[in-house]
Amino acid sequence: MKILLKNLVILLSLTTAVLLAGSCTSDEETAVPETTAPEKAGLETEDLTLCCNLDSLPVEPLSQAETDALLLMREEELLAGDVYTAMNAVYHVPVFNNISKSEQQHTNAILNLLTKYNLEDPALNHQPGIFVNQDLQGLYTALVAQGMTSRIEALKVGATIEDLDIKDLMDLMETADNQDIRLVFANLTKGSRNHLRSFSRLLILSGGTYVPQFISPELYAWIISTPHERGCING
Ligand code: MN
Ligand code: MN
Repeated sequence: MKILLKNLVILLSLTTAVLLAGSCTSDEETAVPETTAPEKAGLETEDLTLCCNLDSLPVEPLSQAETDALLLMREEELLAGDVYTAMNAVYHVPVFNNISKSEQQHTNAILNLLTKYNLEDPALNHQPGIFVNQDLQGLYTALVAQGMTSRIEALKVGATIEDLDIKDLMDLMETADNQDIRLVFANLTKGSRNHLRSFSRLLILSGGTYVPQFISPELYAWIISTPHERGCING
């Protein structure tokens, strides 16, 4: 009996130690991102213009689907940047500032394709928050309204945009065969996966959660459980 009791005490103290260690770890995890990580969260280290050197790839015939894809993505990348800029003005969360700069690179990469294929730029006189594509206009209005309600909702808005971008880019890549378009879209998708990792991580640390609305739960789980992707995707 005495031995049993002794074992129980050991077991209990072990359990306490494990629990303490566990809470210690989670404290550290919440403390670190609040101080340093958000400053780095979402920072795109690689230069997209180096990843997407269009000069080395041929001008190939452009299908209507490819034309539509470029026009859509030119404004969809602008929408991302405009929403993050609006969120940053309210919450001053570094992730919004960092990722909005990355979105500027993304939309510029699409603009380079529009120029290469002599397509008219739908965002020639772009004003923040104003879009030619009325679906995107409606989406912008809805997402900014949602994001203004709280910091957690703003992070969910970020995850929603990246979720949608990944879905759209993957779908559009199915119909695009031009090498330059596929190269740019592949690198934009990679950028979006990294952005989704940042928003998802900050959401969880803030006590929130994100449920994917566009990509599959399996793809979402894979993205957020794998590390930040570095370097270029080569076609
Ligand atoms: Mn983007
Ligand atoms: Mn993004």
